[in-house]
Amino acid sequence: MGLNETLSKPGQAIGDMAQVSTLESFINWGKSYSLWPYPFATACCGIEYMGAACSDNDIARFGAERPSFSPRQADMILVLGTITYKMAPVLRQIYDQLSEPKYVISVGACASSGGMFHAYGVVQGIDRFLPVDIYIPGCPPRPEAILDALIKLQEKVKTQGLEERRQEVMKKIEEIREKNKPVIVK
Ligand code: SF4
Repeated sequence: MGLNETLSKPGQAIGDMAQVSTLESFINWGKSYSLWPYPFATACCGIEYMGAACSDNDIARFGAERPSFSPRQADMILVLGTITYKMAPVLRQIYDQLSEPKYVISVGACASSGGMFHAYGVVQGIDRFLPVDIYIPGCPPRPEAILDALIKLQEKVKTQGLEERRQEVMKKIEEIREKNKPVIVK
């Protein structure tokens, strides 16, 4: 097989030791194992994240052990807990400040749907103002569920190109705009 032919088949193994790849898939592979989380914890789900980070579950095995409390040094936000309408603009601003390409994991029932707090002050799901990538069910979800979501996100990061990512986020933001349009009764 000639070199040109080999390079046209990324992902194919050559012998036992080497594998051909594109530069983009190589970079994506590296990114997937060095996600830097920003834990936005407002309630009890935050404790489950702490459990996922502790030695029993050891999130470091997946390369995401470096929590950042500065959004510019993070590229993945975990929303852990109830979000009120007062907090929503702050959370949105933090999301806007994350490094690109950035990802959102909605942890638990409260972040994903408002949970048991069906109250006028509680946002009934962060996907009303953020483009969510992964939802984790449960109240609270177990630390294993958080690790499972991280693995799913890693698969996404590995396979999604930058342009595809941009398109996905634009589509979700358009859906958010549609959802938030005021209802006009004539
Ligand atoms: S989903 Fe359950 S455990 Fe998580 S913040 Fe809400 S009430 Fe607490």
